[in-house]
Amino acid sequence: AEAHAAYAAGRPRSAEIHARARRLMPGGNTRSVLFYTPFPTAMVRGEGCRLWDADGREYLDLLGEYTAGLFGHSERRIIDAVKDALDRGINLASVGEAEQELAGLIVGRFPSIEMVRFTNSGTEANLMALAAARGFTGRVKTMVMRGGYHGGVLTFASERNAVNVPIPLAFTDYNDPEAAMRDILAEGDQLAAVLVEPMLGSGGCIPASAAFLGALREATQRTGAVLIFDEVMTSRHGRGGLQERMGVTPDMTTLGKYMAGGMSFGAFGGRAGIMEVFDGHRPGTLPHAGTFNNNVWSMAAGCVAMGEIFDGETAEALYARGEALREALNAVCARAGVPMQFTGRGSMLTVHFRAGAIERPYAARPAEDRLRELFFFDMLAAGIYLARRGMAALSLPVTEADCARYVAVVEEFVAARQPLLAEAAG
Ligand code: PLP
Repeated sequence: AEAHAAYAAGRPRSAEIHARARRLMPGGNTRSVLFYTPFPTAMVRGEGCRLWDADGREYLDLLGEYTAGLFGHSERRIIDAVKDALDRGINLASVGEAEQELAGLIVGRFPSIEMVRFTNSGTEANLMALAAARGFTGRVKTMVMRGGYHGGVLTFASERNAVNVPIPLAFTDYNDPEAAMRDILAEGDQLAAVLVEPMLGSGGCIPASAAFLGALREATQRTGAVLIFDEVMTSRHGRGGLQERMGVTPDMTTLGKYMAGGMSFGAFGGRAGIMEVFDGHRPGTLPHAGTFNNNVWSMAAGCVAMGEIFDGETAEALYARGEALREALNAVCARAGVPMQFTGRGSMLTVHFRAGAIERPYAARPAEDRLRELFFFDMLAAGIYLARRGMAALSLPVTEADCARYVAVVEEFVAARQPLLAEAAG
């Protein structure tokens, strides 16, 4: 209550914006993830990895638009590419060279992608990958992970969310190789696809074990289901994504977020034999339409983002920066002996208020929930912008000094909140 009061007192303009928005949009916004009580901070300007809110406060942006903001808020080469594209005409209802170039860049990087198609979002990319798998196998059912997230209509934080999903589903547990093997084999020739994030993103930055991904690979090969890696978030973890880093090649991969420099984007691709279900040269092809699939600004920005800026070396440097940050944060927690840790890989990390290994999503105790909320508001008060759930996704403009500042602020949090942390441990 104290943290909420201090927060609200310092943000009258954000409060006003929220009060007006609530009358027009349920919850006052159009992205559920941006909602939190008492009201979300309204940002009005960004530059590099800095943000300014409606009340004039400055923040270090460690949220990086939930991974879509990889290039920061003002990368000149991306802005110029978008402007250039628009100067040549807003969408032309036509195929173009930019989409061909971007397709080439993606096919050249991801081991599993021989052919690719574009969408407007990661959600659509996953829906279309599932359509491809169903068309290819002639089967209908899809297996997903409890706690997985693949977009607004494919969210499995609880099985109740499955009401959003327009297709038949089966569930298994994340990081349980024996269960995955058993459950996939039990579905046998009913299963069209297995859809999995190689690290749970929204589910808490929980990396998959090699044994788990290996079990998924083997079981799907045995039953003929299409294995789809959702790398919408994790493709940033290396030139060829997390699949290349882990040495597991799925049949299909979905992409999104940062890949068009921060413009709206999604893509799905895979083995040519599967992707051919969309080849209009062949009889009986499946439709995949979408007015904005190859919009000129996303395609142009994507070519620069993936062709000029985010090369393999840059991806490795970002991964290393994130690993070093997570290690430093976990060292702070370990030194203080508190039940607090940061999980993740590379430039994506999430805070958790419990001790011991975290291998799958869990039902948080009330004390953990309270600490997570307090952490978020304490970070905001210190000028650090994170996801409400405590996730950070580093962008390229974030420097070592910015990381050091986050570590120092977390150290202050641990000292100031020691009694509550001790209570949560008990
Ligand atoms: N897949 C994963 C792993 C995601 O994290 C997200 C978004 O957070 C999506 C898919 C959906 O992407 P979009 O929000 O672009 O629809």
